[in-house]
Amino acid sequence: MAPLPRNILIVGGGVFGLSTALSLSKRHPNSQVTLLEASPTIPNPHGSSVDTSRIIRADYSHPTYAKLATEATDLWRRTEWGHDGRYTQNGLLLVYPDGDSTAKDYTTKSYHNVKELGEDAQFLPTKADVLRAAPAYGETLNVAGGYVNWSSGWADAEAGVRFAKRRIDEEGKVRFVTGQVTRLLFSEKDNKTVTGVTLTDNTTINADLVILATGAWTAALVDLRGRAVSTGQAIAYIRISDEEQCQLENMPTILNFATGIFIIPPRNNVLKIARHAYGYHNPKAVPVPGSSRGETMHVSLPEQGVTIPLEGEAAFRTALTQLLPTFADRPFIDTRVCWYTDTPKGDFIITPHPSYSQLFLATGGSGHAYKFFPIIGDKVVDALEGTLGPELRTLWAWPEAVDENRFEGTEDGSRSGAKGLLLLEELAKTRKSGRESIL
Ligand SMILES: Cc1cc2nc3c(=O)[nH]c(=O)nc-3n(C[C@H](O)[C@H](O)[C@H](O)COP(=O)(O)OP(=O)(O)OC[C@H]3O[C@@H](n4cnc5c(N)ncnc54)[C@H](O)[C@@H]3O)c2cc1C
Repeated sequence: MAPLPRNILIVGGGVFGLSTALSLSKRHPNSQVTLLEASPTIPNPHGSSVDTSRIIRADYSHPTYAKLATEATDLWRRTEWGHDGRYTQNGLLLVYPDGDSTAKDYTTKSYHNVKELGEDAQFLPTKADVLRAAPAYGETLNVAGGYVNWSSGWADAEAGVRFAKRRIDEEGKVRFVTGQVTRLLFSEKDNKTVTGVTLTDNTTINADLVILATGAWTAALVDLRGRAVSTGQAIAYIRISDEEQCQLENMPTILNFATGIFIIPPRNNVLKIARHAYGYHNPKAVPVPGSSRGETMHVSLPEQGVTIPLEGEAAFRTALTQLLPTFADRPFIDTRVCWYTDTPKGDFIITPHPSYSQLFLATGGSGHAYKFFPIIGDKVVDALEGTLGPELRTLWAWPEAVDENRFEGTEDGSRSGAKGLLLLEELAKTRKSGRESIL
């Protein structure tokens, strides 16, 4: 096992950063670990890890993620991670419509993977079978078949982040600092060794190792063109009555692979609908990281605090008509664009930077990393120690670049929706259409 550098700086206080900090606290208590977060609070309300809910499932078409997810789910089920309402095991219903062979193929592989792992899953070859498994969804449900996995569940995402932060505070080994990194600092000797970071107020923090766990913002700090792209995903929330809460709270989460739309059962009279899709790009001109010649590049970066475009609202209205018609015209009390850090195949990036020493990346969540919160930090620390198994090391290595002009988002068979949507263009169309507010 390789010894770790003494002075470690983690940038980012979401799933990747917090889980790594927790693991370092336990396994390397003598390291000096600082966690730097731009948001004044952890949980960061604009971070990808913070929301009402996240699906916890082993339902993957890729057997390695399926297996890893069963390990993580086991911790959500059996340990403090899932206590106090942080984890609810309500089941997951994966459905596909007629004529969509990609969605059917993902669903079928995923079903076989979870069955092999011993999960409580049942294949539902017809629409009638789907409706029998989840009668809360209406007769208008437009599906050809699917399966339900009663071993899957969902987590209260914000509560999970709060829990991890509390655990780290209790360990007392990590220093938390608020500040936003503008760029990495390099050694003057070789311009290839990262020695720390510069913040917006021009102060610097030095470290022997910098771990970037900066999610969808990472593209502004290292050149990830063709390797990771930040995509904005639509979410909306609906207020429901006490009676409706009782009717819906125990239904399985539904995920329709044809549209990417999913609905997680409500809590506290709030129902969430979201879309797992190619999403919106938001290109911004930023300096090319590490370039001394003042070059700029265009990369997609998060836009904070915007409501969803009309395009997203219309998709939700259509899906509600098919899935829960009673709510099709119900006003949204809030909407949000939440950011994925998509890699070409949906594999995380947990690896040293190939060109800069003392720089490590822990990112590339690709819309599916939350469930791994209880274990991902251990995998990061395994990678730092050089003890990560060969399969995960290969899967999470620096990705091969794809053509950045045709890179819309992860292509793992689970994504749907239109490609090429630009967030600001869609918001401008929304304003032009005269929609004053959807709230
Ligand atoms: C809508 C949506 C639904 C999802 N659903 C699921 C699901 O059902 N199941 C599942 O498993 N996963 C799901 N995910 C994916 C999962 O939530 C993410 O993969 C995971 O939370 C990403 O964590 P992160 O640490 O990379 O990012 P974040 O939580 O965004 O953390 C990154 C942090 O870095 C900070 N930061 C960034 N740049 C800087 C800087 N320059 N200086 C200082 N700090 C900085 C940010 O402020 C932020 O707090 C979903 C994601 C979204 C958006």
